[in-house]
Amino acid sequence: MLIDSYDRVVDYLRVSVTERCNFRCNYCMPEKPFTWVPKENLLSFEELFEFMKVSIDEGVNKIRITGGEPLLRDGLDKFIKMIYDYEPNIDLAMTTNAYLLKGAAQKLKNAGLKRINVSIDTLISEVAQDIAGKDVLKNVLEGVDEALKVGLKVKVNMVPMKSVNANEIIDVLEYCKKRDMSIRFIEYMENAHAKKEIQGLKSTELLELLSTKYEFEDEGFDGSSPSHYYRFKDGYRFGIIEPYADDFCKQCNRIRLTAEGQLIPCLYFDEAMSIGEAIKRGDIKGAALVLKEVVRTKPEKNRWGGEDSESSTRAFYETGG
Ligand code: SAM
Ligand code: SF4
Repeated sequence: MLIDSYDRVVDYLRVSVTERCNFRCNYCMPEKPFTWVPKENLLSFEELFEFMKVSIDEGVNKIRITGGEPLLRDGLDKFIKMIYDYEPNIDLAMTTNAYLLKGAAQKLKNAGLKRINVSIDTLISEVAQDIAGKDVLKNVLEGVDEALKVGLKVKVNMVPMKSVNANEIIDVLEYCKKRDMSIRFIEYMENAHAKKEIQGLKSTELLELLSTKYEFEDEGFDGSSPSHYYRFKDGYRFGIIEPYADDFCKQCNRIRLTAEGQLIPCLYFDEAMSIGEAIKRGDIKGAALVLKEVVRTKPEKNRWGGEDSESSTRAFYETGG
């Protein structure tokens, strides 16, 4: 079992399989980065799988594939199948913008993927174009329909921003509720790569807007999920991810791997250690030692919110969010 210096059990690995993306979201990658990681520096799926085995053997029981946009990487279904065949009970999920999902959902499901999270920030085509930098909404919604059709469980992530999509939180929630998909509103996290003018809605503002239409009860946290949950009388539940809240990091159980093999203990900070060298020379013990060291050095808290609040310099498209 992997336990950090603050007694948190780390059993969740997020794997970014590429930093590249077909969207240019204003809060994540508004401009194409100056350089991409050269393809030859990426770990192959076989190499990434070697590290998945190390992590599973050390106690990881949940793996999420993310990016950049994970569906841009060829052979993703084969990677998913490798993990599934090694440990069918692993909670195997993916976060995607869904643009390419329509043609991929069935293959991913067949390979062993159980759940996906899709980013839907708006249901208005022009707003989607403003946020993502291109006309994406039709493909995204068709991707979601296909995922539901093939039997994948779907959750939706929305980042509410003032003067952009804040007026749509009820519409997006209703879209999800009708399809029995849960929704999580993610507070915009300030970072050096996002558009400067963005102002995110904080959870108090979100709750105020939602309470103009709904009655709900505060259910608090559920296990190690970062969401603060609320439930309507009819049983439907929504979540808010509040990284600015003082107690947000208390139950954090996750570490992140980039596509070039950097293992990152916290989404906020720049610190990382490479497992790439060890994996490339087949040094499984070495990779396990790096994993344990990264878990040991996991910081207690991020620095969003509070008196010393700062914007992060980490790119979300690199860490996978
Ligand atoms: N491309 C995929 C997608 O968009 O779902 C996966 C990668 S994306 C980096 C993962 C998640 O990070 C998305 O739900 C996205 O909304 C979220 N995200 C990116 N930048 C963010 C920011 N500045 N604040 C809050 N959430 C952010
Ligand atoms: Fe791409 Fe996802 Fe970042 Fe948007 S949030 S730019 S879809 S990685």
